[in-house]
Order: sequence, then C-alpha cells, then structure tokens
Amino acid sequence: MSDTILELDHIEKSFGGTSVLHGVSLSVQHGEFVTLLGPSGCGKTTTLRIIAGLETPDAGRVLLRGTDMTAAPPEKRDVNTVFQNYALFPHMTVAANIGYSLKLKKMPRTEIAAQVQQALELVQLDGFGTRMPAELSGGQRQRVAIARALVNRPSVLLLDEPLGALDLQLRRQMQLELKRLQKQLGLTFIYITHDQEEALNMSDRIAVMHEGRFEQVGTPAEVYDRPRTSFVARFVGTANIVKGQVLQNEEGILTVHTAGGQVPALCCNCGKGAGDGVTLAVRSEHVEFCTEGGIPATVKEKTFAGGMLRISLALENGDELVASRHGIDIALSAGEGVRVTWSAQNAVPVDTHTEAQV
Ligand code: ATP
Repeated sequence: MSDTILELDHIEKSFGGTSVLHGVSLSVQHGEFVTLLGPSGCGKTTTLRIIAGLETPDAGRVLLRGTDMTAAPPEKRDVNTVFQNYALFPHMTVAANIGYSLKLKKMPRTEIAAQVQQALELVQLDGFGTRMPAELSGGQRQRVAIARALVNRPSVLLLDEPLGALDLQLRRQMQLELKRLQKQLGLTFIYITHDQEEALNMSDRIAVMHEGRFEQVGTPAEVYDRPRTSFVARFVGTANIVKGQVLQNEEGILTVHTAGGQVPALCCNCGKGAGDGVTLAVRSEHVEFCTEGGIPATVKEKTFAGGMLRISLALENGDELVASRHGIDIALSAGEGVRVTWSAQNAVPVDTHTEAQV
C-alpha cells in the first residue's frame, strides 16, 4: 500500500512575471527524509513556502495524505516549518517559546508543561526551560526552534537551511541529532540545503533543483553515482565532464574516443551507438593512472585540501581533468606526461540539455 504523505503535482509559480517554478512534482512517503538541494535562487524556499501554505502556486496542487490542500491556509495544514533564523520570541523563556502554539490551541497548562518537558528532553535541553533565548548558544537556539515545531506533532516538518548559521563542527553534530530525532519519531522531513555533503549524509532521497526544476530525484547513491545530467554531476560531488564520440556499444559497455585516446563507459539503456556524441561524468576519485591505453594528459598541479590530494591534469584537447586521492602523496610532478583512464562502471553518460544555464 502506498504511504504517500505529501504530493506536489506540477507546481508552477511566478513572481512579477518571472517564472521561478516550472511544473515541480514530487511524491514523499511517510517517514522519509527528503532534501531539496540546489544553488541559491533555484526555487527551494519557494517550494517549501508553497507546501507550508505561505505562498499560493499559480498552477498545480499540494496534496497532504491525498487531500488537496492547495487553497488551505497554513494553520489548516499538518505541517510545521523550522527557519534558519530560528525566529524565537526573545522576551519569552525557552519553555514559553516551545509551548506557545499549544497555548494558542488552549491546551490545559499541566498538559502544556508535560509536552514542553518531553520536547526539551528530545532535543537534549532538559533543564533549559527557564532560560531566555539570549542566554543560549546558536546550536541550543536551533534546538529550541526544532522543539517548538515538534510539540505540534506535525505529519511533515519543513526545515529551511536549519543549520546554515552554525559553525562546521556544530553543524556536523546537529546533522546527526536531527537525523536521530527524525528516525526516532518517525517524522517526515523536507529539508533545504545548498550543502551537498549535508544532503548526501542525511537524506533518504535528494531532489536536485536547478532553475525551478527538479533535475533528478533519487537516493544519495543514485544522485552521486548515476547523475542524470551534467548539472547534477557537477553540483553533487563536482564530477569531471568529458565529451567524446562513441566508437562501439558492446552489451552496454561503450568505447568512447576522446582527447586523443579511448576510455570505457557504462551505458544502461542510454541508447548510444557508434558515431554518437556522448558526454561522460567521472568522479575525480575514480580517475586512474595507467601505463598504456586511456588518454594522454599532462600534470598541471597538485594541491592538498580537506585530506584529499587533488591532481589537475590538462588533456590534449585543452580540457581539464581532476583526479583525487585520499591523503596519500603520489610521485607526480607538474609538467609530467601521464595516461589516465577509469573503469566502465565509473563513467556514466549524462544529459547536457541544461548545461547552458549552469
Ligand atoms: P536560497 O538558497 O538563496 O535561499 P532558493 O533556492 O531558496 O535560494 P527562492 O528563495 O525560492 O530560492 O527564490 C527563487 C527565485 O524567486 C529567486 O530568483 C528569488 O529572487 C525569487 N523570489 C522569491 N521570493 C520572491 C518574492 N516574494 N518576490 C519576488 N521574487 C521572489
């Protein structure tokens, strides 16, 4: 049985004549962690606001548990939003902030106190109820904002870059905590970020967004290992993009001519045959050095960053290729001639139709 909790059905939205969402569709299952990932201005927040009822779409429908809620006001929707700026009431204690919406619902005071206590424990802030927001760290404030959303027991929690204001270490810690809470409570999360690592770490599925469209919706592994477009390949994990011509397609393994050599690629029903042009996405960690075959290249430079050694290579056709290795130095120096290749399963054909917009 389908357990779809949220459905976006061909949502369109314009602001002042400029179209920002072009028929966005998405189906989210109960208990799923779905991330909208994309660069600034691609339409993530607008999509979230439409789900929350804070914006009305020009066309399309928002369904919650199969019921059309497109015209319903925010308070009638079983969703809550956590914003990046926390939006806590500065003059209220932590407990009052968390219990505010329950008070509006006229819940009895003892019941509110019990629910607030439970929410404080969930976000590991037991004992912080009497503090004022100004007396908390950024991470603690964000946890109060999450607790405040959780007391409403929403079917769907919308989180708009909730960790954006935190430093890297706290961010990593909060990522784990959020994921734990989501699993523990069986909540459905729609999470916005432009940090691809965060999306890959936390999500059950990622919707990669570009210029008001979902370019690919899939598991982190699908999006990372099998990017469908060159935009997705570049945005998630910064892949090399290599253009060439198919020499043969033998049972799904392509031989591709490019940059003065031949390399293999995997064609899962890609429909490519001899003579067709093809664009491949290859992750830098999958670029291998070989003694014969492959394609000739010249080492441009080696840099070390974030525990990875990056080797920039110039191909004969002028394109640049990046190879990366974990923390180990390899005996290559700038100006040296090498040959590079990869295994077929690590090179996938990608669609370049959106490339002009990158
Ligand atoms: P960011 O990561 O920077 O928050 P985003 O992907 O969330 O970006 P949106 O906030 O959804 O992007 O904005 C999408 C586009 O719509 C942008 O070009 C933005 O300028 C425009 N836009 C958003 N809200 C409005 C508004 N109320 N009026 C006019 N234009 C808007």
